[in-house]
Amino acid sequence: MGAVAPEVALGELYVGYAADPDIRSVASSGGVVSGVLTHLLERHLIDAALVSRITSVDGRVCGVTELARTKQQVLDHAGSSYIDTPVVNRVKALRDIPGKVAVVALPCQARLLKRLLARDGALRQKVALVIGLFCRGTVTRQFYEDIFGRYGIDQAAVESVKVDRGHLKGMVYVRLRDQQERAIPFATLNAYRMAGVHAKRYCLWCDEHLSEQADLSVGDIFTKEFKRRPIKHSAFICRSETAADVVAQMQCDGLLELELFGIDRYRRTFSRLERYSNDLRPRRVAARLTGFKPVGPPSWRVNPAHCLAWTLFMLNRRLTGSDAGRRLVYGLPSSLISLVSLSIKALSRI
Ligand SMILES: Cc1cc2nc3c(=O)[nH]c(=O)nc-3n(C[C@H](O)[C@H](O)[C@H](O)COP(=O)(O)OP(=O)(O)OC[C@H]3O[C@@H](n4cnc5c(N)ncnc54)[C@H](O)[C@@H]3O)c2cc1C
Ligand code: SF4
Repeated sequence: MGAVAPEVALGELYVGYAADPDIRSVASSGGVVSGVLTHLLERHLIDAALVSRITSVDGRVCGVTELARTKQQVLDHAGSSYIDTPVVNRVKALRDIPGKVAVVALPCQARLLKRLLARDGALRQKVALVIGLFCRGTVTRQFYEDIFGRYGIDQAAVESVKVDRGHLKGMVYVRLRDQQERAIPFATLNAYRMAGVHAKRYCLWCDEHLSEQADLSVGDIFTKEFKRRPIKHSAFICRSETAADVVAQMQCDGLLELELFGIDRYRRTFSRLERYSNDLRPRRVAARLTGFKPVGPPSWRVNPAHCLAWTLFMLNRRLTGSDAGRRLVYGLPSSLISLVSLSIKALSRI
């Protein structure tokens, strides 16, 4: 890997996209993650990438984390899979596999990996790069079990689940093993997720969403300016020299287009979102009201709108923790869940 190009500064936020349109066509945003993985594989800087997707295993839909050894395998796993994934356990199993690996992880997984790699030298030698996604919440496998049940989709027949946000307000395409395809509006699926339905338990107390412990953090850039651009961009931050070297090399080779956005500008632009999603205090109040064990010392000096938003979120999480609650929530019209989700969004902005 070459020297750090002066324009790729550690800790700064850039926006950009993979130059290869084949990568962008299957990616979640600008294809920066899949572009970096493809570059590392083709340059033989890694032997495999540890990537994730949704499929069914032993008759049950779930998130899986697998080794991709070719560009095609990387592309088969591109896109965002809104589900809990066994990334950390798969990294632990790398001890038995020869060669170097790059890992794609959620922020909570990147934090666990940082600790794991710090105390395990052999594993550290194997992991060439950790790419962390930005993330403000995911769901358990039961989420898909229930939503597929609602749409009459046999979970045992699911081959893949892909989000395509290019189509109107976006669609979720569920490919079945007999090659048939079913489509669910992304807005519907996302409303259940944003309302707290089957939220991963960790998400109730998560306050770090930009993968600060990864080498390279990648997310979306959903400002008006970037929504208008014909090519979708990813936002990314190089946090280690290894990541900065990779990005600089890709830019030199014409594989990656990038421009500086600025971390301060990002934080200013999304300050309301960060205030809501990084503050644990309203969640402690919401936890008491909904019967969860609060984390940290009590505090009543909180934003009441945020308390209400988190209370709605945790209430749905609690309901979907029991069979009766699941039947109740999924028996409600999806328009009501959309209303709850919109209310949470509106309250979070106050
Ligand atoms: C659950 C979840 C929540 C997210 N929330 C936000 C958010 O609030 N704000 C934001 O800016 N961005 C969020 N993102 C990140 C965003 O959706 C894109 O993944 C990111 O912009 C990278 O896009 P890309 O085109 O560069 O990646 P791509 O080239 O599409 O590659 C994505 C990579 O991520 C891997 N991956 C997908 N899902 C998972 C998963 N569950 N666990 C581990 N690896 C996975 C894929 O295997 C693939 O290698 C979230 C992603 C996920 C999975
Ligand atoms: S919100 Fe936090 S805990 Fe939940 S999946 Fe994302 S990083 Fe992990």
